Amino acid sequence: MQNLGELHQDTLAVHAGREDFAELGVHAPPLDLSTTYPVRDLAEGTASFDALVGGAASAANPIYARLFNPTVARFEQALAQLEGSSDAVAFGSGMAAMSACLLAAKQRGKHVLAVRPIYGTNDHLLDSGLLGIPVRWTTVEGLAAAVDADTALVIVETPANPTLDLVDIAAVARAAGSVPVMVDSTFATPVLQKPLECGAKLVLHSATKFLGGHGDVIAGVIACDAEWASALRHVRAATGGLLHPLGAYLLHRGLPTLGLRVLKAQENAQRLAERLAAHPAVAKVCYPGLGTVANAALVGTQMRGPGSLMAFELHGGHAAAAAVMAAVRLATPAVSLGSVDTLIQHPAGLTHRVLDEATRQRCGITPGLLRLSVGVEHADDLWADLEQALQRARLAAAA
Ligand SMILES: *Cc1c(COP(=O)(O)O)cnc(C)c1O
Repeated sequence: MQNLGELHQDTLAVHAGREDFAELGVHAPPLDLSTTYPVRDLAEGTASFDALVGGAASAANPIYARLFNPTVARFEQALAQLEGSSDAVAFGSGMAAMSACLLAAKQRGKHVLAVRPIYGTNDHLLDSGLLGIPVRWTTVEGLAAAVDADTALVIVETPANPTLDLVDIAAVARAAGSVPVMVDSTFATPVLQKPLECGAKLVLHSATKFLGGHGDVIAGVIACDAEWASALRHVRAATGGLLHPLGAYLLHRGLPTLGLRVLKAQENAQRLAERLAAHPAVAKVCYPGLGTVANAALVGTQMRGPGSLMAFELHGGHAAAAAVMAAVRLATPAVSLGSVDTLIQHPAGLTHRVLDEATRQRCGITPGLLRLSVGVEHADDLWADLEQALQRARLAAAA
């Protein structure tokens, strides 16, 4: 097969992690559900065990599925190719990926620096100190002054959740100097953004979202260099935050259509954002494609497009937001995002519940704010649904 490195992203998405199919005589990835593997040659088994426990990417014998699984490794290779990294390490959830990253960071320094707002549970995990590495909250502007010799990692998320503010990854990498930067790129996917090209060292995805794309897999993945990957595999083997091979199979199956899904949803989102912004029940719409978020000028440079997530603020606060959640018929009132179908949720009441009230307010997570993850349905049907729900919100606000 041709060297995949020379191919366009769309072609890569279809063929990555499938290079050996002709040799194997298969057309779809084999799904290996083995928990253990025969060890006939003990010397080879011992060497393989040592290598895998120490964080090697593969070994002559897989030994045990907590150490290596070929179906998971295929998905990891494919994702690494899409992000432009040498390696990727997959986990049982985005939070398991984040936890492994923090445990790996703990061996390299005394604290991490992070910029708000970020995904609510990431915020909680960092702030709680549960994993024994403290966080210092900073801003992009304050970063250069906050970095010191004990900083293990800098953590940012862009586009940010739920405000859709954008962070200039190259500026963060410059300010971080020699300290590695991890970008939670869940909202962007490799279709819209390549953090490693901007100077980041690690890219984290909750693969539960766009990468899975069909609402049926919980997973996380980190794309990074070989050294970090080895540390992450070591943590994964020791703590067991594994991705099940069936999840990896489904994620790999979804990669060929990732670009189609992301771009179609983005097209829908732009239309809905424009119509929402003109609707009398709506006070404001935060969407990179409307220029209404921080650093919106990064759309077209850092980001190939504005994506398909937005947040909008209703006149009438909590009651109006609850009325819209109750009234939608086509969109599903549910947390999560990045699925082929449209989801709508209330950050203050659900995903960002774990933040204290003052932090929520500082991050713009108000009682009337809803987050919309636009799917690949027809935009007119989605608008008709939202419009009737907004009508209910106006009645609720008037009451
Ligand atoms: C969902 C999400 C996570 C956490 O991932 P899980 O797969 O739910 O554990 C982390 N970051 C972002 C931006 C997310 O949207």
